[in-house]
Amino acid sequence: MPDYIPFNRIFKDEDEKKAISEVLSGDNWHGDGPVGRRVEAYFCEWLNSRHAFLTTSCTHALEMAMMILEIGEGDEVIMPGFTFVSTANAVSMRGGKPIFADIRDDDLTIDTEDIARKITPATRAVIPVHYAGVSADFDEIRRVIDNRAVSIIEDAAQAVGAFWNGQALGTVGDIGCFSFHDTKNITCGEGGALLTQNDDFAEKAEWIREKGTNRTAFLRGEVDKYTWVSLGSSYVPSELLSAVLEVQLRKKDIILEKRKAMWNVYFESLRDIEQNGWITLPVTPPYAQTNYHIFHFIVRDQSDRDPLISAFRNAGIGASFHYIPLHNAPYARKFLDKPIILPKTEYLADSLIRLPLHPGLADRKEEIATRVHDVLTGYYKESG
Ligand SMILES: *Cc1c(COP(=O)(O)O)cnc(C)c1O
Repeated sequence: MPDYIPFNRIFKDEDEKKAISEVLSGDNWHGDGPVGRRVEAYFCEWLNSRHAFLTTSCTHALEMAMMILEIGEGDEVIMPGFTFVSTANAVSMRGGKPIFADIRDDDLTIDTEDIARKITPATRAVIPVHYAGVSADFDEIRRVIDNRAVSIIEDAAQAVGAFWNGQALGTVGDIGCFSFHDTKNITCGEGGALLTQNDDFAEKAEWIREKGTNRTAFLRGEVDKYTWVSLGSSYVPSELLSAVLEVQLRKKDIILEKRKAMWNVYFESLRDIEQNGWITLPVTPPYAQTNYHIFHFIVRDQSDRDPLISAFRNAGIGASFHYIPLHNAPYARKFLDKPIILPKTEYLADSLIRLPLHPGLADRKEEIATRVHDVLTGYYKESG
């Protein structure tokens, strides 16, 4: 029996431990300290962003984004139905209404024609999700928004170090939100960041993140005491986590290289399976420079998907499906006036398989791709 290839594994060595111990031996463990500031400056420089704020998660960065826009009762925010719950929770939490749009059947990002159908005078924002680290189509999103006062908030949770026409994801829209959860390319366990190019938004982000106070301006010596200036909460990560993130960022090139190597070998080795009409391989539009966050493919339908995932697992390959669409979820049914149908979302969610993808696989990429290939050919030979 070959060994089990886990779906994900953190890329780490002793450096993360060293960085944490250094912070532990000092007297500044709370957030917005020297390490956090260095990491924020690093993001600004690397991704050419005017502002970057570390947060306790991408979920929290999305919540902050909705607070910055002052989303409230009666406001609508358009997002794909094929996303993680946090995209929608951030809106619902402020009393706004998530409006679920369909996705494209090639790269699984938001279907801009469906944005056009669903945009109303109540629409305040669109939240594209860069699925798998592949950019949504900003030209088309901007075209359908036209000249309306609708903000673009990027759910770039999966897209750290990916680009749209050479511009970093997270910096293309009005606000971008990153995740450093340990399932993501770069991680500190739980963490996130909010990026913006807008100085007014940055000022609000600074207050909201610090419990609604201007403490950050106080620390910079701009005011002689700090006070309650806005709605806010506690979204600043501890220096301990920022230290881990700083180490991970030093490894970002090697992480990318190893993910890319595995991704490319999967892609090349599965081409003949695609030519047989059994699967559809992932599509990366010309404007998208991916960070290889996910390797997925689409099978004919759920009656192939479920047995195939079992076959992979029996062969020691930790394959997985992905999101259960939000528009059909029990909580969404409570606020949707009537059930909605998102045909492509429903079909794709039922037909998608993700394969293990993490830097630890690069050294065995050929062997792993062969094992994957064998499972697929074995399955389709039997089922036709
Ligand atoms: C991971 C993820 C999130 C949540 O990130 P956290 O840092 O765990 O809060 C939100 N949206 C998408 C699309 C994600 O993949």
